[in-house]
Amino acid sequence: MSETIGFIGLGAMGAPMARRLLGAGHTVIACDANPAALEAIVESGAQAAASARGLADQVETIMVSLPTPAIVQAVAADVAEGSKAKLFIDLSTTGPRVAKDVGTMLNKKGLEMLDSPVSGGVGGAEKGTLAVMVSGPEAQWTRWKPVLEAIGHNAFFVGEGQGQGQMMKLINNMLSATAMVASAEAFALGAKAGLDPDIMVQVINAGSGANTAVRDKFPKSVLTRTFDYGFRTELMYKDVRLCLEEAEALGSPMWVGQPVKQWWSLALARGGVEEDFSHIMRYVEEQAGVEVRSRKNDPKPE
Ligand code: NAD
Repeated sequence: MSETIGFIGLGAMGAPMARRLLGAGHTVIACDANPAALEAIVESGAQAAASARGLADQVETIMVSLPTPAIVQAVAADVAEGSKAKLFIDLSTTGPRVAKDVGTMLNKKGLEMLDSPVSGGVGGAEKGTLAVMVSGPEAQWTRWKPVLEAIGHNAFFVGEGQGQGQMMKLINNMLSATAMVASAEAFALGAKAGLDPDIMVQVINAGSGANTAVRDKFPKSVLTRTFDYGFRTELMYKDVRLCLEEAEALGSPMWVGQPVKQWWSLALARGGVEEDFSHIMRYVEEQAGVEVRSRKNDPKPE
């Protein structure tokens, strides 16, 4: 069934997710604070709305993919004032407590929320292979599952409790953040000991050290020195921070997470909010005094 969906936040993730919805035959009315991002999605076939509030006067269901919890809260408050909006589907990562606050605020204004963070990166968003972890009213999940499957064919219902999808997402990203830092340290050590990083990728991916950093991020963006994976360090730091806050609030140990957070904190301080998270390798290299790069394109000796 073809749906009309409002979509706010057409960034690294939002733009490919909105394009998947357009590709599945849905009508998308988009809104973004950045005119260039809006223009690009209009070129892909979406209609444009001038503001979140204006969009919420036009459509019943609004998806958002926004960078920070504070921005999600502000945009949700605007959406709640709209005359037509009934359902808010949040694809961003905000953490369970913000999700609960936003859900409660929306419920008071007569709207429902599906908390639906995603995992799988820009590549997964482009291919429609994201993992989508949904919590909220089960009837809305059943109704919107086929649409969410256009975004990610791995769509899971985590439970009705507000914020459960977010909790799932933070746990997933804590593991991803840990794998990235631990792999950067491992590759620095290997390179310093004279191992070929391309061979390290092959061995680890065939062995018990396999993880998504070595499978996807190192071959695409680290060993190539392009540092362009499509996820900003600011967002990785946010996810780790939110996860550790939840662990502390629930009294559950996450000791390994503390040094992982320190690495991301250093990367954020050094590289700033816009830098791609794959640059973490460069900060580990500085400490190790070595560079980790592919040798595939090195000139052959005469
Ligand atoms: P991004 O910074 O690339 O995109 C965010 C978009 O929101 C931008 O286009 C920006 O202009 C827009 N925006 C900001 N404030 C706005 C406002 N007030 N009103 C309207 N538009 C506004 O971020 P992203 O990488 O696409 O991430 C979006 C969300 O998805 C984040 O919560 C992130 O944690 C999560 N996420 C990202 C990835 C990834 O690999 N990039 C993967 C999974 C989840």
